Amino acid sequence: MYYQPKTDLLNNRIIMVTGAGAGIGRQAALTYASYGATLVLLGRTEEKLRRVSREITHAGGAEPLVLVLDLQSSVEADYRRLAEQLSERLPRLDGLLNNAGLLGEIVPMARQTPSVWRQVMDVNINGTFMLTQALLPLLLRAPHPSLVFSSSSVGREGRANWGAYSVSKFATEGMMQVLADEYPAQVLRVNCINPGGTRTGMRADAFPDEDSMKLKTPADIMPIYLFLMGDDSKRKTGVSYDAQPGRKAGPAQ
Ligand code: NDP
Repeated sequence: MYYQPKTDLLNNRIIMVTGAGAGIGRQAALTYASYGATLVLLGRTEEKLRRVSREITHAGGAEPLVLVLDLQSSVEADYRRLAEQLSERLPRLDGLLNNAGLLGEIVPMARQTPSVWRQVMDVNINGTFMLTQALLPLLLRAPHPSLVFSSSSVGREGRANWGAYSVSKFATEGMMQVLADEYPAQVLRVNCINPGGTRTGMRADAFPDEDSMKLKTPADIMPIYLFLMGDDSKRKTGVSYDAQPGRKAGPAQ
């Protein structure tokens, strides 16, 4: 996607990125900060989040808020508490990028381990749902809030061996569509991004034999992440976007 945003696209915006310590989430956080946003960095590994926070401030960005939360083990009360704490510290949330994700096992359905299946659902769906639900009131305080979910090509068409991950991404698309149907775009817009094969740790786990140098980097795919957080997408809702339109799913060619 070609998109050239204005340099002040996200001035005065408060944006939360989940899974902000590595991969696409880290890059999205750095990119949003460079366009003027104040970040809330959420993830399960404090050290990684602190590192990203330092990168942002060293580059001249506003000091982020760091929140350590494990989407796999947290329960409803944890999300409620987190939302209460945030609403005491923040006037609103202009954007939420639900990016954290777990791959699980790439094996046929017959061999998917039920406990791993459950972990993938807990991170990709249940935790993401509870976090989003808890943060809705804070999002709805913003004039043009944007909620973005992270999908995948296997969330649109099932593929052998992608088991829990694929099913969770179908559910992600469903969660986006349900929410998009519940709010008019001007009140809350809700969209998905399918990053397409991108050079990260998760991708290397999924395709260990692939030449990663043939993949786009997280920085390469940032245009759609910016578009959906800024006012240029104000009227867009219920859409599942490809960060790399036209890219054929599967290993890098
Ligand atoms: P990475 O594995 O590189 O990063 C995932 C992030 O999610 C990490 O910061 C990780 O934290 C965090 N995370 C994992 N589990 C939890 C948890 N239980 N609680 C809180 N945070 C957690 O993945 P990518 O950057 O590649 O993927 C980002 C998103 O894009 C995912 O939703 C993925 O499914 C999707 N995607 C990626 C593609 C790709 O090619 N890379 C293709 C299609 C979709 P920690 O670092 O501490 O482990």
